[in-house]
Amino acid sequence: MKKVIKISVIIIGIILIPVIGVISYFYVAFNNFSLEDEYQVNENNLAYFNESYNEARYDFKLKSNELSLKYPGTKTFELPVMSNKDTNLTIDFCFIPGSKKADKIIILSSGVHGLEGYVGNAVQLFFMDNYINDEFLENAGIFLIHSVNPYGFKYTRRVTENNVDLNRNSGIDKELYQTKNEGYPKVYDLINPKEKANPGSIANRFFFVKAIKNIVKESMPVLRQAVLQGQYEFPEGMYYGGKDSEPQIQDLIPIIDTICDPYQTVFAIDLHTAYGERGKLHLFPNPVEESVKKRMEIIFEGFQIDWGDSDDFYTYSGDFAGYIGKINNDKVFIPMLFEYGTMDSQTTIGSIKSLHVMILENQGEHYGFKSEGDMKKVKNDFMEMYYPSSEAWKSHIIDETKIIFDKSLKQFSELELK
Ligand SMILES: [Zn+2]
Repeated sequence: MKKVIKISVIIIGIILIPVIGVISYFYVAFNNFSLEDEYQVNENNLAYFNESYNEARYDFKLKSNELSLKYPGTKTFELPVMSNKDTNLTIDFCFIPGSKKADKIIILSSGVHGLEGYVGNAVQLFFMDNYINDEFLENAGIFLIHSVNPYGFKYTRRVTENNVDLNRNSGIDKELYQTKNEGYPKVYDLINPKEKANPGSIANRFFFVKAIKNIVKESMPVLRQAVLQGQYEFPEGMYYGGKDSEPQIQDLIPIIDTICDPYQTVFAIDLHTAYGERGKLHLFPNPVEESVKKRMEIIFEGFQIDWGDSDDFYTYSGDFAGYIGKINNDKVFIPMLFEYGTMDSQTTIGSIKSLHVMILENQGEHYGFKSEGDMKKVKNDFMEMYYPSSEAWKSHIIDETKIIFDKSLKQFSELELK
């Protein structure tokens, strides 16, 4: 009898020890998640970063005005964005026309996801300082769109005041808002909890167990697609694309249309943060036709483009770059999305952590926080995910941008379309 008990204990031990080991490993990795940046800090790069929407907008306007003194014909203007809470929200524009023979235009847009506008602003300021010159303007016009979602930028949200994700809401026809995301109801409960946000609760500390259970059940690509595709049914839910276009998406159509009118080729770069390996600039477009793909490959020759053949790829509707393309459907259109990675979301633990940070933020916004301290923690984690405080990270992503801009802007400027 004693022997039987002994064997049972050994067998249970053999099964339990690895399970406990794996759970402990994930528990530590998940709850102590942090990433180091071992890059040199260049003070000149840091000067491009601002710490509030108002400062960012001020700098953008200042540089726009400097450019209008240098290049007559430059247009600087703004579009107010209505809000129930704030009467001082604007999208700001700077358009520098190309020479008479220029038949191309580059559009550089930021802040479609509100607080990603911090990095978008820095990259736009860096671009304005370093890449606008007579040689470039000989071949192409330049159009900068600053802070497409000023509410989200100012109030540290990714979405608009109506909880709408503008990168799922940017459409020119109403069909978009009828899109059904078949997978979303399956993940609804996982990503939209309905009580006060409490990051220290047992359920949150062991969130990775629930997430991994879902990954095992549905597979990572299926789960990623269901979550990230966007949904048009649940206004309180994550990745909500809206029931209709948000006011600025409506108002931007004639503006973009008029500015692009004299040009035959439109190249649009939309700036984002968070997705991908920390500190790396990813070229991450939504799928495009073969002919467009070829042109993108010419412009970004020498760089890796994430085409969607990897497991961590997903597609979505209502994206802002695609919408600029629809407005210009009679022209050659080349979209690109820049994603500055912050959370190593290409790893399992990084992607689970990213999802969890977003869940808690959305949950707190709708159902409140358990305590003031919980609110601070959730908002701080959220900010770190989209705008890391690390100086090494900030400095490095400007270096990454420089490498890509130096080469690809030249390749775009010389692009011949016959
Ligand atoms: Zn984004």
